[in-house]
Amino acid sequence: MRLRRVLKLGVASWLLACAAVLSAQPASAVGPLASLVVHTDHGPNSAWAQRQHYVVLVSLDGFRWDYAQKFGATHLLALGRLGVTAPQGMLPSFPSLTFPNHFTIVTGLYPEHHGLVANGFLDEEKQARYGIGDAKAVTDGSWYSGVPLWSLAESQGMRAACLFWPGSEAKIAGQLPSEYLHFDDKVDEYARIGQVLAWLSEPEATRPHFITLYYSDVDHAGHNFGPDAPETKAAVIRVDGLVGKLQSALAATHLPIDLVVVSDHGMVKMQGPWVTLDSFTDLTGVETVSTLLYPKTEEDRARIYNQLKKASDKFHAYRRKDVPAGLHYNENPREGDPVVIATGPWSIRARAPEAGKADMPPIAGMHGFDPRSMPEMKASFFAAGPDIMVGKTVAPFENVNLYPWLAHMLGLSAPKSDGSLNILAGTLRDGGESPAPVPVAPDSAAKAKE
Ligand SMILES: [Zn+2]
Repeated sequence: MRLRRVLKLGVASWLLACAAVLSAQPASAVGPLASLVVHTDHGPNSAWAQRQHYVVLVSLDGFRWDYAQKFGATHLLALGRLGVTAPQGMLPSFPSLTFPNHFTIVTGLYPEHHGLVANGFLDEEKQARYGIGDAKAVTDGSWYSGVPLWSLAESQGMRAACLFWPGSEAKIAGQLPSEYLHFDDKVDEYARIGQVLAWLSEPEATRPHFITLYYSDVDHAGHNFGPDAPETKAAVIRVDGLVGKLQSALAATHLPIDLVVVSDHGMVKMQGPWVTLDSFTDLTGVETVSTLLYPKTEEDRARIYNQLKKASDKFHAYRRKDVPAGLHYNENPREGDPVVIATGPWSIRARAPEAGKADMPPIAGMHGFDPRSMPEMKASFFAAGPDIMVGKTVAPFENVNLYPWLAHMLGLSAPKSDGSLNILAGTLRDGGESPAPVPVAPDSAAKAKE
């Protein structure tokens, strides 16, 4: 609590001072969150990396595609006019949940390809569960596949810094970000901006070129009060103000920075009471995580599927291999089998709480549903900067396509992913044409000679 208070008092003035002196700042500025920043022992930016542009990637959790218009988020709308926006929204990947989609945005892979198939799931081979609140799992790189942008940058001699992003606390594809923080949503929201500015005021040798920033306020309000509530509007306006402050502070650095603001998913007002799967089928002895089901035998899988498939119009049940291809949710054993998918804004769970434990009513707002059949799940996309054309709009596109686009702006060679640069190439000033130079790190050059 004390840290928060000190930050609240000091950060606003610090922010102003920092923006004013930023370009003249001679040495490394530590920033308001210095005591929380974890440093990885990486070398400086290569000479090649120092010549590349900067990308600040901001996630506004749960910021539904239409919130900016609906609630008058003037800074975000202005950012879109200055660069590019998707007025009809961006399509999250299924399931439209926070961890799966954040990690899709930075890897270009559908959740079943990067491994985070939900916010919590079971890996039967590992005999272990992943959960977003489990610090041990979250920081264990063996849960994740793909090459997140920060790892891509680091592996090509470019430093990256993450002020919160799912996966950024784990060593993935052999790399951690040069600087990152362990997730703590209590960290003051202005201090987060101050820390981003501090990173950008580091000397060229250590200044990160790829930076992430995260705000959860809008998601929390949407869950607790629903997407149409005045509390959600207030959170949208507050977060929009933060984006405005960040944008002017970034402009004051006079660095070539592309500011990209996205969300992971939308939000829908929930309807009706709980739909409890074990009222239709016996789940005794079956491991479950949320609505994911992990029967141990083929016999049980078939039995549960048969009992669920016509049980309710509130959900579809599929054998995993039969989940519609467009959902990209039929390959990974972490998805369980059978797979249950809601047909609307219904609160589905595997089991009711044990007898004697309080049963809470369903939450006001939720996400996680199929974004192709439920437009409320669509996410937001606004971006502007030296690599981005002015005044562009794009039709709804899948968020897997952000990865090659962001990598291109940073000049990085991206590995093959589920996304394609073609989708957003028209928003780039170079049309996505200029080939990304392939930097050769000294050690890989030495290895190649061996
Ligand atoms: Zn949420």
